[in-house]
Amino acid sequence: MEKIVALSKRRGFIFQSSEIYGGLASTYDYGHYGTLLKNNVKAEWWRSVVQERDDVVGLDAAILMHPKTWEASGHLESFSDPLVQCNGKCKKRWREDHLQEDLGEGEELRCPECGGELSDPREFNLMFETFMGPVQDDQARVYLRPETAQGIFVNFKNVMQTARKKPPFGIAQIGKAFRNEITPGHFIFRTREFEQMEIEFFVPPDEAEKWFKHWLKERERWYSDLGIRPDYLRMREHGKEELSHYSTGTSDVEYLFPIGWSELEGVANRTDYDLSRHAEFSGEKLEYFDQQSGERYVPYVIEPSAGADRATLAFFVDAYDEEEIEGRKRTVLRLHPRLAPVKASVLPLVSKDGLSEIAKDVYAEIRKVCPSEFDEGGSIGRRYRRQDEIGTPFGITIDYQTKDDQTVTLRDRDSLEQERVASAELPELLDKKWKEDWQPPKLNQ
Ligand code: ATP
Repeated sequence: MEKIVALSKRRGFIFQSSEIYGGLASTYDYGHYGTLLKNNVKAEWWRSVVQERDDVVGLDAAILMHPKTWEASGHLESFSDPLVQCNGKCKKRWREDHLQEDLGEGEELRCPECGGELSDPREFNLMFETFMGPVQDDQARVYLRPETAQGIFVNFKNVMQTARKKPPFGIAQIGKAFRNEITPGHFIFRTREFEQMEIEFFVPPDEAEKWFKHWLKERERWYSDLGIRPDYLRMREHGKEELSHYSTGTSDVEYLFPIGWSELEGVANRTDYDLSRHAEFSGEKLEYFDQQSGERYVPYVIEPSAGADRATLAFFVDAYDEEEIEGRKRTVLRLHPRLAPVKASVLPLVSKDGLSEIAKDVYAEIRKVCPSEFDEGGSIGRRYRRQDEIGTPFGITIDYQTKDDQTVTLRDRDSLEQERVASAELPELLDKKWKEDWQPPKLNQ
């Protein structure tokens, strides 16, 4: 993880938030390449669950919602985690369930920091609250949403009517969520402000099991199609004691992070709990009525809920590789070309003798088809190392031969193979290459 954090900072993927003031704990800002990478993760998710399906539509709900939402959802009452405080030296607070998970059932819990005794667990509300308008009283209290899901549930009726959909159909949303986590950490794995990518898929109750399985498979496939190594990915079914009271089944997609196997995404059968609760608290009927059959029911919900930051971290970690080429160490991010922040770099061998000008012309054409970079500063080897570290899959070098025959070299990031191609064919070739099926190379790590 240290190598990832160092590379993030060195190449401008992710910075500590408010660093000049000493930083804000567990809060991060995405720099240029980090923003591009996370945007690509979100775009690929959207492409897979909305664009390529006929049964899911999009939504972008507000972060602030009517406070009753959180009564109905149960967050006000139960969005609290049992918290224990160290009575020993360090006085740190910990999530009791996390400590228990790390240790295993039955083991006596001690403070992981100083080994001190722990207090009895206390409830702690994880929602951030703020006030709407100038007066800070109970009437004005609102919450920063702790999940995007509720914005979908409260819009169920609006969307079903306007999108002309009937179950089975889903609503997808990407957006920020906030949780006052007690033990954030491990870089962007667990933070207090993060982004979720959630689908609420509404189904006839008797089809819930079938769709639950469908989404488990789909979501696992998404990660592996984008290059996550299959032996670093697994599905873990929740035991009965782990299930929320309303869920009849939950499985986590887990990834083998440097901190061990950890949740990447949760897929849950939430039954009709959410719609029924919002119907009860709002007085609105939230059900499906089939005019032809006269059938009426509250749909069950299958929820695949992923974290955009956590997925970005997984792709980042999974792609990180080091190798030795002719006695020199090379760090390379073997990202799927679809996820790579920059798809192609255009590098003149030297910046004199008119090569720079030719390279600029090539670059002008290539950037029309894919995110690209032009770089003429420093030795060619250094420029390639920089591109390898940000995961650029295709490198184009303009050399003296280009002047004679208008061909360039096209270098493959992973195999380091170089081929000579006509520069006029590059835009079409690259446009195809970065979108085509891609086989992840074997890593050295
Ligand atoms: P955890 O136990 O790891 O805190 P959770 O089970 O509370 O996660 P869910 O409520 O199921 O998480 O949220 C769905 C997804 O949102 C998670 O799988 C994760 O990818 C992401 N997520 C949740 N909390 C955080 C967080 N604090 N920071 C970053 N991502 C998060």
